[in-house]
Amino acid sequence: MEQSTILKMVFDVLHYSGAAAALRPVFRGSGAIFCLHHVCPGGGAKTGFSPNYQLEVSPDFLNQVISHCVTRGYELISLGDAVERIKSRRKGGRPFAVFTLDDGYRDNAEYAAPVFRKHGCPYAVFVTSRIADGTCEIWWRALERILARSSSIEVNISGRTVNFALKTDLEKAQAWSEIFPAVKNMDEYEQRRWILALSEKHKFDLASYCRSVAMGWTEIAELSKDPLCTIGAHTVNHFALARLPRVDAYREIQDSRASITERLGRPVEFFAYPYGDHVAAARRDFELAERAGFSASVTTRKGMVHPDHWQHLQALPRVMLSGRYQNLRYVDTLLSGLPFALANRFRHVDAG
Ligand SMILES: [Zn+2]
Repeated sequence: MEQSTILKMVFDVLHYSGAAAALRPVFRGSGAIFCLHHVCPGGGAKTGFSPNYQLEVSPDFLNQVISHCVTRGYELISLGDAVERIKSRRKGGRPFAVFTLDDGYRDNAEYAAPVFRKHGCPYAVFVTSRIADGTCEIWWRALERILARSSSIEVNISGRTVNFALKTDLEKAQAWSEIFPAVKNMDEYEQRRWILALSEKHKFDLASYCRSVAMGWTEIAELSKDPLCTIGAHTVNHFALARLPRVDAYREIQDSRASITERLGRPVEFFAYPYGDHVAAARRDFELAERAGFSASVTTRKGMVHPDHWQHLQALPRVMLSGRYQNLRYVDTLLSGLPFALANRFRHVDAG
C-alpha cells in the first residue's frame, strides 16, 4: 500500500473519530505557513504518467483552502506579519494562515495570484535566481518530460548502466521509481552533470524548458508590485544546502539574495530552503541563513507554528498543500495540528 494511502486513512481516523476536533485547541499552535509549488487548472490530477503531480494543486482547491481558513477563524496575514507575531511571543488570539509558493513558476502569477487577490490574502513567492535567469536545470521535471516522451532509456545510476522500456505509463512509472531516488541522492553537482548529459543525449533543451515553466525577472518584478506579494530567496541553483560544503551553501544563500535585491531594488527578508526536509537543510544551514541576515526562513519540515518558534525563526515549519491530499477534510485535519504532534512525538519544535 502506498504511504499516501495509509496517511489518508490515518487522517480519516483522526477526522471521523473526533480526535482532531477535540485536540485542536491543544495542538493548533499560533498558525500555519502553507507551502505550494504549482497552481494550475487540473493541477494535482494523477492522470497517466505524472510523477510530480503532488507538487500541483488546482486554483479551485486553493480558493477552497483560503475560504476554509477564513471560516475556521484564521487571519490571513503576510509572512512578515507572522514573523512579527512570533517574535512578540504572543499566546492565544486568532491563529494565522500564511501562504507561500516555492521556485517561482509562471502559474503562480497566472493562476494563484488572482485567487489570493480575490480574498485579499497575502502570499510570498520564493525565487531561485538561476530559475528566474532561465538557465536552471529543473531536473525533477526534466527527468519526467524525458521519460514521458521516450520509448526506452539507458541511464547510469548507482554505478551501473540500466536499460528501461518506456512504452507504457506503467513502465515509465517503474523506471521513475528507480531513477528518481538514485538521482536525488547524488552529489548535488554530479546530479546536474547527470541531467545535462541525459538531456543532451535525448535532445531535451533544459534552458528552454526552464523558461517555459518559470517566471523570468520581468514577470517577477511585475508580480512584486502586487501589495499582497512578498518575494523571498530560494538559493541560486536549487541545491540541497546540507549536501554542500559550508562555503558553497553560504554562497547559494547570499548570492540569491543579492541577485533578487539587485533586480527588484528592494531588500529580501525571507528565505526558503530548497527541498527543505531534514536531509536538505539542517542546523548549519539555519545558522548560515541567520548569518546572511534573513529575518526568518522556512523549511518543509511539517508542523504548525508554535509560540516556541520565536527562538527558531530560521527553521519555521510548513504545511504542504499537495495534489496528493487535495481534499478539505485532510487540510482541516492537518490544521488541527494533531498529525504533526503525533509525527513529532508531541514536540512543538523540530529545528535540530
Ligand atoms: Zn524549491
